[in-house]
Amino acid sequence: MRNLDKFKGCLVGGAAGDALGYAVEFLSESTISASYGPGGITRYANGRGLISDDTQMSMFTAAGLLLGAERFKSGGFAGYPYYIALSYGDWYGTQTAEFPLKRSYVPLAKMPEMFSRRAPGKTSLSALSHFLESHEYGTIEHRINHSKGCGGVMRAAPVGLFFAGTAIPVWESDIIAAQSAALTHGHGLGWLPAALLAHIVRLLAEDAGETVLHAVEDASKTLAGLFPDIRHTNQMLARIKKAVDLAANLEIDDLTAIHKLGEGWVGDEALAVAVFCALRHSDDMEAALIAAVNHGGDSDSTGAICGNIMGALFGYDAIPAPFKTNLELHDTLCSLAEQLYGADVPADSYAVETKKADEMETLPCATCRFRTIVTLPDGTALDSGRGSTCAAYPDLKPLDVMSDCAHCPKYDREQETAARNDFHSR
Ligand SMILES: [Mg+2]
Repeated sequence: MRNLDKFKGCLVGGAAGDALGYAVEFLSESTISASYGPGGITRYANGRGLISDDTQMSMFTAAGLLLGAERFKSGGFAGYPYYIALSYGDWYGTQTAEFPLKRSYVPLAKMPEMFSRRAPGKTSLSALSHFLESHEYGTIEHRINHSKGCGGVMRAAPVGLFFAGTAIPVWESDIIAAQSAALTHGHGLGWLPAALLAHIVRLLAEDAGETVLHAVEDASKTLAGLFPDIRHTNQMLARIKKAVDLAANLEIDDLTAIHKLGEGWVGDEALAVAVFCALRHSDDMEAALIAAVNHGGDSDSTGAICGNIMGALFGYDAIPAPFKTNLELHDTLCSLAEQLYGADVPADSYAVETKKADEMETLPCATCRFRTIVTLPDGTALDSGRGSTCAAYPDLKPLDVMSDCAHCPKYDREQETAARNDFHSR
């Protein structure tokens, strides 16, 4: 069962934790106390909840999933990670170019408010720059770097929401989350936590009676079965287990426990700190968010992840009013949550199909020199997204061209089939 309040809670809660932590992201604990008092930061700095790249990229994850569902229906589907990559490419545009972009895939990229640089992660920027130049993106099987930064996990929560209450099994959405992180972060500790977070969020969003502890345990068990041969799986699971144990040990205060888990700059630590805070303060969202950001590490990411979890647990209505007031892009986040909630997710999608673009066979269209057709191993054709515009349909975006080419007056199916057969026989 889907629950709209939990969908909104997850996205807005994540943004709230991000915004609270963004003001102190690069500050030491002594500087935080000196600036905000012994209790640390408890309300948005200067009364304004400015979100950072964590929330921006989460929003583009949501947009990429919605784009994937749309493309699935129009035929020719390359797997959700591919569409998430296209959406991240749009985010890259918002960080490196002026509004408006010449070309984009998702509606978010048409909003001038998204064109704000909030300490964007360098790993994501360089991986996406490479993707836009070469069309090559990272996967679990083909890793493009060795980064275990938390940039992969801090944007993964929407994957759990999108597949909540659908026929797609939870292990499959876990893999999609892992792949969405591996687009830019190649180290196991960069993408394994994304699978865990999506799993936790999905269970919390599906079931009103779900607890964080049970969701964490279920996610851990599934991860151990999904990736038994990945060298870092045990390391990831050990850190989560440590977070669970520390949360139960009330003799250890929050900050001491967080120090034992790490600073959160890397993926497994960020998730562990967020899970610790969510478990330690499982009945108090405000306390959980405050604990998650008041440390000397990556406060906005640990805050964002903790907010995703607590928001999915309690729902939007339970988020304290001060965290909803003056929160940047609040209405857009709610609208995205509604779109994820209302998404008609294909039940029969082979959703984990994730080929590297350059592993796919490509050939130019026989009738339209402006596009490139990609043929998947099962024979499905799709546009590679490399083309600019179709000569016959200049208003179409590249990915629309393929499905419309059959209507092109210049289209010659025989000629294309011959070219295709020629290509395949070589
Ligand atoms: Mg950030």
